[in-house]
Amino acid sequence: MKIQSEQEKSSYKNVWTVAEVANGAVHPVSYELIGAARRLADARGSQVWTVALGCGHTGEAGSLFAYGADKVILVDDSRLEAFNDELECNILQRLTIRYRPEILLCAATSRGRALIPRLAGKLHAGLTADCTGLAIDPGNGDLLQTRPAFGGNIMATIRSSEYRPQMATVRPKVMSAPEPLPGRTGEIIRETVEPGDVFKVKEILQSVRQNGSAVSLGDARIIVAGGRAMKGPEGFVLLERFASLVGGAVGASRAAVDNGWISYPHQVGQTGATVQTDVYIACGISGQIQHLIGMQSCKTIIAIDVDDTTPMMKLADIAVKGDLFEIIPAVIKEIETVKSKQEKA
Ligand SMILES: Cc1cc2nc3c(=O)[nH]c(=O)nc-3n(C[C@H](O)[C@H](O)[C@H](O)COP(=O)(O)OP(=O)(O)OC[C@H]3O[C@@H](n4cnc5c(N)ncnc54)[C@H](O)[C@@H]3O)c2cc1C
Repeated sequence: MKIQSEQEKSSYKNVWTVAEVANGAVHPVSYELIGAARRLADARGSQVWTVALGCGHTGEAGSLFAYGADKVILVDDSRLEAFNDELECNILQRLTIRYRPEILLCAATSRGRALIPRLAGKLHAGLTADCTGLAIDPGNGDLLQTRPAFGGNIMATIRSSEYRPQMATVRPKVMSAPEPLPGRTGEIIRETVEPGDVFKVKEILQSVRQNGSAVSLGDARIIVAGGRAMKGPEGFVLLERFASLVGGAVGASRAAVDNGWISYPHQVGQTGATVQTDVYIACGISGQIQHLIGMQSCKTIIAIDVDDTTPMMKLADIAVKGDLFEIIPAVIKEIETVKSKQEKA
């Protein structure tokens, strides 16, 4: 909403996060958001409130407090069992108007991306998507929302000074979740679905759960990623073998995905997934900024490239100069030898 006076602006308080709850469980990104909200609220001398919409999830409030929420608004209703962006948006709109949060953070997941632009539109508030940094201007409480712009060539810091609430989305794994404090508690505010929330424009007839075969780069501890140098789908067969030996998942640059060698869910980067693995092995990926944005926070980066002047080779903790079609088969052979010796011993 457009702010008309300083008095009206100061009536907006606290930092809200929207928890992502599916099948009664909280998505880990919800804790990352609470960590970010905690830092903002502490800088502002305010509180962290987390809104948890779902069905049969009331027991999860404890974990939200443990990660730093001061208050949890719980809406527990069978109509919220399957995700319905329209219904969740209407509930959030009503709660936001009633409680007037200064800041509202949501995950840039497929759910968050369906829900939060709709809410921003209804509230007539600004929204910055895919933020990589969040800070507070201590003078006026403006949220400083930093995100890559112009294809990742610049980092833009955006503020919505004249509108409240200030809304931003953050991708999973961009912010670290804080250490939970078991036993930390807070206040639960129970709200219900009201008749006015339920418009019959859309009805969820069936919710289908994805089975375990989906790619989950977000959960992987090791990623072996390939780029244009893989030359074709058969190159990724080699990477699959390498990844399965080290217990990792296969990632890819956009060049490889655009060429149709591997499917989009494997893409890492600005228009793909953001990952924060223990080990990231980049095979024939030059490391353009749009790729680096998605993986530069990985703990150990290993790069294999024939050219040792690329951004990826410079960023890497371990840079291996050479032809990946010689190096990877040699590494696979070595791992297989060691494993078979271990099995025999
Ligand atoms: C708006 C926008 C969004 C984008 N989003 C993404 C994104 O999400 N993710 C992404 O990855 N890209 C993204 N891109 C594209 C990005 O700019 C690059 O074009 C892309 O990342 C390049 O992929 P690559 O590193 O595989 O290919 P290249 O840049 O061509 O690099 C290939 C590398 O392989 C090396 N090489 C060649 N042969 C061998 C060999 N035999 N052995 C070892 N090394 C070898 C080369 O020396 C080179 O360094 C985006 C671009 C735009 C404009």
